Amino acid sequence: MNIGKVFLVGAGPGDPKLITVKGMECLQAADVIAYDRLVNKELLTYAKKGAELIFCGKLPGKHALIQEQINQLLVEKAEQGLTVVRLKGGDPCVFGRVGEEAEELAVRGIPFEMIPGITAGIAAPAYAGIPVTHRDHASSFAIVTAHGREEKGKDHLNWPALAQGIDTIAFYMGVGNLPHICTQLIRYGKKPSTPAALIEWGTTDQQRTVTGELATIEQIAKDHQIKNPAIVLIGEVVQLREKIKWFEAEKRKQPMSL
Ligand code: SAH
Repeated sequence: MNIGKVFLVGAGPGDPKLITVKGMECLQAADVIAYDRLVNKELLTYAKKGAELIFCGKLPGKHALIQEQINQLLVEKAEQGLTVVRLKGGDPCVFGRVGEEAEELAVRGIPFEMIPGITAGIAAPAYAGIPVTHRDHASSFAIVTAHGREEKGKDHLNWPALAQGIDTIAFYMGVGNLPHICTQLIRYGKKPSTPAALIEWGTTDQQRTVTGELATIEQIAKDHQIKNPAIVLIGEVVQLREKIKWFEAEKRKQPMSL
């Protein structure tokens, strides 16, 4: 039997229309779609009739399928000659463990492709009216995971480099670690008045954005009960939101749906 193929596809950050054309073509052609928790379920309606849909999501801290089982699943389905889509939120290469899956596929001789997606750290700010770079405000941008400290037993981040060398920082999985993020950035050189934003469920109908400064954002996030999934965005670019926010403003203009 012919061997199948695995497509490691980025679903985009939430708005289902933010998947790429190539990603959508893969979805429509797939015999099997193995999808993660943060993938917009509306995308699954584009699966062809009879396609097998497998939830591989994990709630924070809990694993529905552990990574080895997912790797195994992809291999087995492809060995059965099937076209498999591994659908991941945002971009599969940004905190998406795509490296681990691709490595396994490569070792087992299974053909695969990576289809990039739009990552939340850029898209959620964009929908909040915040471009992550700007000629006047930011010429560098870092994507950082705030998660992992516990696993490795010590802080894995180079805080002085982040605080002093990067203009805009997007922290993923950062809500739980917000106090630590703010303390460290201030300790290593960012001004306490540096603008900060949290964008929850970015690019979806439930998007919420709060803004403040490094010194105040923790309390503001608490007051509004901001939870994951959210991007913690730090940098002068956050100020631009006041002038150019569009998505949430747009939503308010629309008549209430019944
Ligand atoms: N591969 C994904 C990131 C997976 S890690 C990507 O490229 O976007 C999961 C983290 O991504 C969440 O904890 C949150 O910090 C961020 N995230 C994912 N979707 C989001 C959304 N719609 N709005 C805000 N943050 C989001």
